Amino acid sequence: MPLLGCVADDFTGATDLASMLVRNGMRTVQVIGVPDGPLPEAEAVVVALKSRTAPPAQAVAESLAACEALLAAGARQILFKVCSTFDSTAEGNIGPVADALLRRLQSGFAVITPAFPANGRSVYLGHLFVGNVLLNESGMENHPLTPMRDPNLVRVMAAQTEGSVGLIPFPVVEAGAAAVRREMSRLAEGGRRYAIVDAVTDAHLRALGEAAAAQPLLVGGSGIAMGLPENFRRAGLLADTEDAGHLPPAEGLLAVVAGSCSRATLGQIGLAREQVPVLELDPLTTPDAKEMAATALRWAEERLSAERPVVVAASAPPDRVAALQARLGRDVAGVLVEEALASVAEGLVARGVRRLVVAGGETSGAVVQRLGIRSLRIGAEIDPGVPWTYAEPGGLHLALKSGNFGGRDFFLRAFEG
Ligand code: ADP
Repeated sequence: MPLLGCVADDFTGATDLASMLVRNGMRTVQVIGVPDGPLPEAEAVVVALKSRTAPPAQAVAESLAACEALLAAGARQILFKVCSTFDSTAEGNIGPVADALLRRLQSGFAVITPAFPANGRSVYLGHLFVGNVLLNESGMENHPLTPMRDPNLVRVMAAQTEGSVGLIPFPVVEAGAAAVRREMSRLAEGGRRYAIVDAVTDAHLRALGEAAAAQPLLVGGSGIAMGLPENFRRAGLLADTEDAGHLPPAEGLLAVVAGSCSRATLGQIGLAREQVPVLELDPLTTPDAKEMAATALRWAEERLSAERPVVVAASAPPDRVAALQARLGRDVAGVLVEEALASVAEGLVARGVRRLVVAGGETSGAVVQRLGIRSLRIGAEIDPGVPWTYAEPGGLHLALKSGNFGGRDFFLRAFEG
């Protein structure tokens, strides 16, 4: 029975949160999409939706369905995980989803913070900083779907909820959990539905976590979860464990499939080329998903090993990506490569690959869908934000890497030990 139930508005954000919970001692499973059966056994369950930029009504319906499944499984507290840059528009979806979850939980108040100081996200007097600059100067003001042009989260949230929004400012949070709890009560009694909470250190997030122990709903980035496992330990519901990220042993062949064209991934492929077999597919000369996959699988078959990975990459520098996009259109080009790599992953698993790294957010989505994976048990991190996971059904060890994550030796180090 899960203690904590989480609804995440995107896939990589869900993994990020799940990793945070494992680091803080909760055995955690990430479920992909609204659960359609019994939830896997875990202390925390994170339901990964793709609701961040969905139409608000759809985001609300899916979030409520996820919440329902978590409550039915016994979750005692719900966390609505949003982006640490608070990605949303005046239409939502943070406000409408939070309003709906509060109604469902019969609660009138929730704290909100996207702060995660270790990742450069701080909230001070309600203003969100990304590194050293305000949110609206961080590049997020130009985001194609959710441009963030106001760094004042009290205003941003107020624009998308029917409720009123207050602030728990730095001096209160600095004074500790008891002060935060008092301020939460005062704001709730004064008719505020939400409070944006300042946090510029982990100590602030832990104080907030402790103060929110009895809150039915929290809204935030993965930082807001930092203090929550301790509440369950304090209540005697969660045992101390050194090994919340324990996974079944990994055996079988090793492989990497890369569809990210981000700079970090291109660097990782460059280093891998010097040490392990690497096949670079060229969708420009072979714009056919089936043919690319067949070529890759023929190549891989002779090279697969349980000692070192083979790497199949479609990744290419910007000029080659632009050339394919100019020929086929951006969406068709993306889907073509995703299809090819999903078939490669499927073929590799059929040939005995049991530990697979996938590079690229969209690429990961395509692979997970093709393999029919419903849940990921979260293991130890390879690099910050990228854990090994154990995928079910199928029992595959899978690491899903968002393009720009990971050090240069990621594709090699992932398989060490
Ligand atoms: P990231 O996490 O780096 O954003 P994604 O997998 O989300 O990576 O996005 C990369 C996109 O680029 C995918 O849609 C992928 O299919 C596409 N892609 C990969 N290689 C090429 C290529 N050579 N030409 C054009 N598009 C490509």
